[in-house]
This record gives sequence, C-alpha cells and structure tokens, in this order.
Amino acid sequence: MSTNILVFCETEGGQPRKSAFELLGKATQLASATGGTVSAVVLGDTQLASDAGAVLGTWGASKVYVASGPAFGKYVAGAWVKALAAAITASGANVVLGSAGGVTREAFPRLSARLGAGLAVECTDLRAEGGAIVGRRPVYAGKALVDVKIKSAVALFTVRPNSFPIGAAPGGSATVVAVDAGITEADLDVTVTETLKPATQAVDLTEADRIVSGGRSLKSKESFDAIVRPLAAAAHATPGASRAAVDAGYAPHGDQVGQTGKVVNPSLYIALGISGAIQHLAGMRTSRVIVAVNKDAEAPIFQYATYGYVGDLFEFAPALQKELAKALA
Ligand SMILES: Cc1cc2nc3c(=O)[nH]c(=O)nc-3n(C[C@H](O)[C@H](O)[C@H](O)COP(=O)(O)OP(=O)(O)OC[C@H]3O[C@@H](n4cnc5c(N)ncnc54)[C@H](O)[C@@H]3O)c2cc1C
Repeated sequence: MSTNILVFCETEGGQPRKSAFELLGKATQLASATGGTVSAVVLGDTQLASDAGAVLGTWGASKVYVASGPAFGKYVAGAWVKALAAAITASGANVVLGSAGGVTREAFPRLSARLGAGLAVECTDLRAEGGAIVGRRPVYAGKALVDVKIKSAVALFTVRPNSFPIGAAPGGSATVVAVDAGITEADLDVTVTETLKPATQAVDLTEADRIVSGGRSLKSKESFDAIVRPLAAAAHATPGASRAAVDAGYAPHGDQVGQTGKVVNPSLYIALGISGAIQHLAGMRTSRVIVAVNKDAEAPIFQYATYGYVGDLFEFAPALQKELAKALA
C-alpha cells in the first residue's frame, strides 16, 4: 500500500518552522520507499499561509493545503483541528506528521478522536516497513523504546524536533489548494488575548540544536547568569535548567528541561552540575551527545553521558567558554 503523507507545517513570524523542513525531508524519503506522495498543510492568516505554501513546494511537497483567515492567526484548538481534519480528507492522506510541541500536543489527540485515527506521539524515528510507517518512541521516561505500527485508515504521528537532519531543499513546486474548513463562531472556542515572548532571543529549547543547562549547584541567579548563559552564548546554544535551579529562581520556568518542563532533543546537551534525576533525564536523554560536568563521580548523569568531566563546573565552564569563543569566533 502506498503512503500518502500529509505534513502539518507550523509557521512562526511568517515562515515555516525548522521542524517543517525536517518532516518534509523525512516524508519524502518515506514516500519514495513506499511509492507514495507528500503534501503539506499550513494554517495561518492569509498572506502568511500563501507565502509558506510557495516555500514548501521546494522542500518536497507536491501539494500544499492552505487554510487561511482570521481564525488561523493564532492557535485556537476548535478551528485548527477542524481545518486539519478537512485537509486530511481533501488530501486523501493516510499518514499525517506533525512536530511534537505545544500545538500538536493538544490538536493531534483531538484529531485522533475526531477521525478515529491511531496516534503515536513524541516519536524520535520513523521508517517504512511492508508499505506502512513505523514510529519509534521513548517510553518509561526514555528507559525503553517501542515501535508503533498504526492499524487505522489514517495514522497520526508527532515527531520530536531535531530527530532528522535537514538536507538541502530538493527544489520543485507545489500546487496550492485552498481548504474551506467551514469555520463558525462555535469553533472559536478560545480567545487568545496575549502572546508573551520569552525574554531570550535564543532558539526555542525544543528546537535547539545545542543546549547548555545548569542545576542547583550554580547556587544563585547571579552565578547562573555569569556561568551558564555566557557558555551557552559561546557555544551558540540555548540555556536550559534543572527543576531545582528553576525552583530556586536561578532561571525562568520556560527554561526547565524534564518531565514537568520541556522535552528536548539537541545534537549537544551540556549538563553543568546536574545530578541526572529520572525526571530530568526524561526531558533530555535522547540528546545525541551528552556532556556531563559534575564533581561527584557517582552522579547518575554519568551513566548517560557521552563525555564526562569529574570536577568543578566553576572551573570547567569558563575554560570551555574561552576555548569555544576562540574556535567559533
Ligand atoms: C513529579 C516530579 C517532577 C519533576 N520534574 C522535573 C523536571 O522536569 N526537570 C528536572 O530537572 N527535575 C524535575 N524534578 C526534580 C528532580 O527529581 C530533581 O530533584 C532535580 O532534577 C535535581 O536538580 P539538580 O540536578 O539541579 O540538583 P541536585 O540533584 O541537587 O544535583 C546537583 C548536582 O550538582 C553537583 N555539583 C554540586 N556542586 C558542583 C560543582 N561546583 N561542580 C560540579 N558539580 C557540582 C552535585 O554533585 C550534584 O550531582 C521532578 C521531581 C518530581 C517529583
């Protein structure tokens, strides 16, 4: 059976997010392995949606389904789920991919219920097997991986950002198809009154390719700001924090990595003075390379680290920062 894959491409500031290119690249590989097609769906206000539609053709989508209008300027669950369902029907997709994050965490379970479609969330890999798509996802806070094959007519997958490399755009163009989702007042079930931007200009933690995180051991907000943030800047990384550091007021809650914070999946995760509690590991253990710095050689984090340094972070971090500043200048 061929797979007709529809990629839900989220946008930010008028442009598709990085995760859209990742998913389109993977969808193109899967479709060529199964003899299927790739299309994209974009929701947005009118100009944004049509611009994104033109771009996505160069990244492998043969058709881009666009639902545009005031209902799609900001995320409103009722309207967005209805539009996504309409795009799935219009495209005839049997596989739908979205990036794991705030929007899909709410929208995809709703879609699943609406369409009677199986759903696998937070996948870190996808592969084609016997004409179907199999999703691999961590379970039990990342202690095990399971492979999920979905039997329903439509299969929904969300994929953690940074799970796949982004190659060069293959080129090409897409036919843009307008989706009329028939949105009514009843679908506008939430009013977004304000969107607060994070204070930092760094790449969002969930999409960051490099992260430098600090723990309780930083001892104060001042030293967190003096040690973790400059090292993150020198490494072109996004700062993160353990819950203990957040609870102590060293970093805002938006920087928290872990079970009750953000789930991250970078190429490089540097953990400064973080013990490696199971709840922290749940948010970062799929990172490709983990560098742990801890003065306790028995700290659990070392069991998961690719590289470990047993010693004082207050000596290690400034020294690394100096070398990185030279190397990446
Ligand atoms: C329901 C629940 C949800 C939770 N959710 C999360 C979550 O989302 N994220 C999260 O992070 N935690 C979470 N926690 C808390 C978690 O259990 C740990 O308490 C927390 O992760 C510990 O943070 P830490 O590693 O910074 O501090 P600690 O565990 O106190 O570790 C500090 C480490 O720093 C080392 N150290 C001290 N000084 C230095 C130095 N100078 N140089 C180098 N190393 C040094 C120590 O050896 C130690 O290993 C949750 C807990 C519960 C119960």
